Amino acid sequence: MSTPVREFLRGPKKLLIDGNWVDAASGRTFSTYDPATGDQLTEVAHGERADVDRAVRAARNAFEGWASLKPNERERLLWRVGDILSERAAEFGELEALDNGKSAAIATAVDVGWSADIFRYYAGWATKIEGSTVNVSMPFAPGAEFHAYTLREPVGVCGLIVPWNFPLLMAAFKLGPALATGNTVILKPAEQTPLTALLLGEVFQEAGFPPGVVNIITGFGEAGAALSGHDEVDKVAFTGSTEVGKKIVDAAKGNLKKVSLELGGKSANIVFADADFDAAVEGSLNAWLFNHGQCCVAGTRLFVEDSIFEKFTEAVAHAASQVKIGPGLDPATQLGPLISQEQFDKVSGYLREGIAEGARALTGGKRWGDSGYFVEPTVFVDVEPEFSIVREEIFGPVVAAMPFSASDDIAALANDSIYGLAAGIWTRDLSKAHRTARRLHAGSVWINQYNGFDTAMPFGGYKQSGWGRELGATAIDLYTQTKAVNVAL
Ligand code: NAP
Ligand code: MG
Repeated sequence: MSTPVREFLRGPKKLLIDGNWVDAASGRTFSTYDPATGDQLTEVAHGERADVDRAVRAARNAFEGWASLKPNERERLLWRVGDILSERAAEFGELEALDNGKSAAIATAVDVGWSADIFRYYAGWATKIEGSTVNVSMPFAPGAEFHAYTLREPVGVCGLIVPWNFPLLMAAFKLGPALATGNTVILKPAEQTPLTALLLGEVFQEAGFPPGVVNIITGFGEAGAALSGHDEVDKVAFTGSTEVGKKIVDAAKGNLKKVSLELGGKSANIVFADADFDAAVEGSLNAWLFNHGQCCVAGTRLFVEDSIFEKFTEAVAHAASQVKIGPGLDPATQLGPLISQEQFDKVSGYLREGIAEGARALTGGKRWGDSGYFVEPTVFVDVEPEFSIVREEIFGPVVAAMPFSASDDIAALANDSIYGLAAGIWTRDLSKAHRTARRLHAGSVWINQYNGFDTAMPFGGYKQSGWGRELGATAIDLYTQTKAVNVAL
């Protein structure tokens, strides 16, 4: 462990409210654990409703000042956050690896590197929020003249609730556009992974953000519920399970706060027989195995054209069996542990259920090692569309492979899910690729690649995978509201 990370773990980890690091009102703390060993890493302040109240008040008081700051000042501050993150990338990556279990090298490059990019991308947006002038006809006022225009204004105080699979990155998805457009925020990280959010709090202070603009409340679901039900919160942005997403919608009804949701998935990855075989094998592995399968976009329903089904699934299973499993701090590690005992039990339950339902594991199917929350990468074949391992989000390194024939309506098979987050298509036939892409009910479609994310591309779900689109210009819509102004001249 590096010295800065050791010192961070040793120091007090409090709540960030109104520019100050403070204990929870109750004085309580909770533990966060290293999923590679199950050992306690450190203690963190246990924020609850009373703390959420204080943070919301701070964000409310800071709002006018932040929203009326010159856009280029917000730009400079956000850019600085991106730069500090880049400078401290290794420290953030290591801390994320310890708290979440993912590889430190991957966390540094992907989670931290991309987060820095997101802050700089939205720094650029701060000076580019525009309304429009509208040439109105006003048929009821013949002969009169008007000057009509729209203003884009921030929504206000935003609660940002994020999960444990990409703790820093999911926070960046929300903080970047929320702050660029002049909102103030309360960030609630997941109970399993509170640490990089707290380190990020230090970065906001170092960058020179005014007090109260960014508040951070570590705690449990109760703190998230307090935020989503709070009458003084104008918007909640959430990433996590579909089940909790529905609770947030219910809680938001009180003051009809704006809600954006990025929820679960059971994404289809479709391999046609004419695909580049080796590229499709590698890409399909990445589709369900990246981040140990703990990805909302994971391509966990693998549809393979029947003429290559056996050869293809065996190649995927072979590649999966070669993956190097270990703790995140080992540079050789490709696949780390699941996040928690709870997640380990859930994934293990699906493995048992799959086998009980009649599925056959070409590789994997059980625990790896005898400590930590490791599970072998598992490729299931002989599955039926109604099996729970085909229908439900497992959130572990498990894929269900199914053959299809050229006469099947593959888009209809792929669309047979309550979710609609992402999809992959592998083929050398351009027309087939685009035709299939049009028919898929999914927010992102990746052709001849998987996880083809970019900061400038909108991201979000059809159906029960969510409301709204994060990233790109579309995220600006999530954090602004439009005012129509009409002046009689
Ligand atoms: P979760 O409960 O949806 O957690 C996401 C965030 O919501 C966390 O910060 C959580 O706090 C908070 N939260 C929990 N209950 C809340 C409530 N009633 N109101 C407001 N916020 C609340 O997800 P999980 O329990 O960690 O994981 C369960 C399953 O969700 C996983 O097995 C996986 O299938 C799925 N999942 C999906 C995604 C995704 O990106 N789509 C991400 C994570 C998990 P706490 O951490 O304190 O619970
Ligand atoms: Mg939870």
